[in-house]
Amino acid sequence: MDPKPILMVGSMAFDDLEFPVPTPDAGGALKTSFEDVVGGSATYASLAASAFVPVRVVAVVGHDFPEGTLETMRARGVDTAGVERADGLTFRWKGRYHADLVNRDTLDTQLNVFANFKPKLAPGYGTSPLVLLGNIHPALQLEVLDQMQKPELVVADTMNFWISGEPEILGRLIARTDLLIINDEEARLLSGIHNLAKAAKDILARGPKCLIIKRGEHGSLFFDSEGVFAAPALLLEHVVDPTGAGDSFAGGLLGYLGRHGRYDHGAMRRAMVHGTAAASFCVESVGTLGLRGLSHSHITERVERIRRLTHVGDT
Ligand code: AMP
Repeated sequence: MDPKPILMVGSMAFDDLEFPVPTPDAGGALKTSFEDVVGGSATYASLAASAFVPVRVVAVVGHDFPEGTLETMRARGVDTAGVERADGLTFRWKGRYHADLVNRDTLDTQLNVFANFKPKLAPGYGTSPLVLLGNIHPALQLEVLDQMQKPELVVADTMNFWISGEPEILGRLIARTDLLIINDEEARLLSGIHNLAKAAKDILARGPKCLIIKRGEHGSLFFDSEGVFAAPALLLEHVVDPTGAGDSFAGGLLGYLGRHGRYDHGAMRRAMVHGTAAASFCVESVGTLGLRGLSHSHITERVERIRRLTHVGDT
């Protein structure tokens, strides 16, 4: 079966990152703060997904975004014809990680060229079988979905910023989503329920066929009408920068689904483990560095490690 291409929309960004401990940069120098790190939900997700299938990106960057990053993406089979270069500054996000290197505070979000962005699908994009509506304003996610012709699978990601700020539009998006991917804190915020099993039930009643709740270093949970599946995270010795882990997870997960063309409960379980493996490469270095050379065989090797981690055997 031919791999099915994925259309994705999301942010392409400059991130300013602050860490609780000195962290090695690309050259090995130790620093606690990093500026102008290339990031964004579409950047991370497309780098991860392109280890599996062709990817088409819809996004906007400013005049300051490095052409080299777009070239790296193209070299991996990412079609960047849908990346608009607007006159202005690229989206910017600033985050400070807590001592646990899991939780973080958003110190600043500057929409810049995203403020006036009208997503337009490049020719041929509208028939993409899989679509990942990455974390951006839900109105933009809906605009992309409206331009699609009956996609086989609609996956959406979002964050607390939009759950609190745009609940009504987000509700409309969630109702049209096959698979919603959020983290535990977001699931609690969205449902108003602390218990995750109950929160998942509440969210599934709002429309999506299935739901993934990410739990950082504790792995992720999948919920659908057939039940629950738990995927552990890989236990890594060197966790450097968790930024983009969620987006790489979503990219790897969709990449697996596009490569195999099945979206049943069993395929979702396997896809989650592939997403987990993709995310494990992301967190090992600052920014997108760990994903730029990521291959399918790198991922399958880590999937085997996850299998061994969870193998229970016969009793
Ligand atoms: P993750 O760590 O997977 O949640 O993704 C982090 C990436 O999301 C960073 O590279 C940011 O540039 C991007 N990001 C942060 N806040 C937003 C936002 N409000 N809208 C779109 N992208 C965002």
